[in-house]
Amino acid sequence: MTTIYNFSAGPAVLPKEVLQQAAAEMLDWHGSGMSVMEMSHRGPEFMSIIAAAQSDLRELLAVPDNYKILFLQGGGLGENAIVPMNLMGRKPQPAIADFIHTGSWTAKSIKEAQKYGKVNVAASAEANGHTVIPSRDSWTLSKDAAYVHLCTNETIDGVEYHFAPDVSADTGDAPIVADMSSHILSRVIDVAKYGVIFGGAQKNIGPAGLTIVIVREDLLGHALPICPSAFDWKIVADNDSMYNTPPTYAIYIAGLVFQWLKRQGGVAAMEQKNIAKAQLLYDYLDASDFYVNRVAKDCRSRMNIPFFLRDESLNTEFLTQAKQHGLLQLKGHKAVGGMRASIYNAMPIEGVQALVSFMKEFARAHT
Ligand code: PMP
Repeated sequence: MTTIYNFSAGPAVLPKEVLQQAAAEMLDWHGSGMSVMEMSHRGPEFMSIIAAAQSDLRELLAVPDNYKILFLQGGGLGENAIVPMNLMGRKPQPAIADFIHTGSWTAKSIKEAQKYGKVNVAASAEANGHTVIPSRDSWTLSKDAAYVHLCTNETIDGVEYHFAPDVSADTGDAPIVADMSSHILSRVIDVAKYGVIFGGAQKNIGPAGLTIVIVREDLLGHALPICPSAFDWKIVADNDSMYNTPPTYAIYIAGLVFQWLKRQGGVAAMEQKNIAKAQLLYDYLDASDFYVNRVAKDCRSRMNIPFFLRDESLNTEFLTQAKQHGLLQLKGHKAVGGMRASIYNAMPIEGVQALVSFMKEFARAHT
């Protein structure tokens, strides 16, 4: 049987061990006689699951004590509204938020934030077709912004920050809000450089339906009056993410993924594997006349690698043959076309090796 490798951008591949464990525990979690899906979120069984998930995530990302970890719903796009509703109230109204426009996901964030305050696009790579991250010295930040929004890995455009910017010199006390949906837990980060980190779970963490928010405590308690209570970070934090029913099964799977990550050696070990995987594919793309990736080398994503066949009339054949070789979901996002290989934590290097071998063979057969 052909080994399957799933390159979906999300919902995405999960570690096989995690899926096997979840299958084994599906009908009877730890002798409780219940599936996790059937448990009260306030019962001792689920309370132990969420507590372990939270403390494992804190350990994996070395989250400092003055940050809360929240398990929410609403996804990355939900946070595009939830962030301004929670932070615009830090400043006199109408407040302003700064955005670094790096691609498709920041474009959506900018549009949504405009409903809740003013927006300053402090830098944009739109003119470069989002193939670079604007350098920090080109950012024109506001003096008194409520926050500065970044997307540290643009899932569609394939650009990633390889630096953690400092904005304090320009903005005073504006916290950085980072959308890390598509690379959280893929690399070591210094959480203290950010005021808020958020991400949908469905790429590197677990099933869709869970959103992680890591927020510095002094940023709680500034929600606009219109903010729904279930999305007011202070209310959620004060209730240990149990203000409303949390996405229990997604939290359980996320917890299994966190345990798996710890067994792999944690985020630092995972980062080394991710560097090796990405390099394998980029090295081949750069050496090839048949395929191309247009992102500047120092801004390339290790997680989402868009590439194009120079002869785009071969796209359908490429995808059909890739599927026959067990290489699934390589079609690029409709906004950019071409192909995209998403190689999250759960993608083994063997998957990238199989992809490169197939790409070589396909190129040889068509030149
Ligand atoms: N931000 C980024 C970086 C994403 O990749 C995505 C989803 N692909 C989103 C936001 C939107 O997430 P959701 O679909 O969970 O709302």
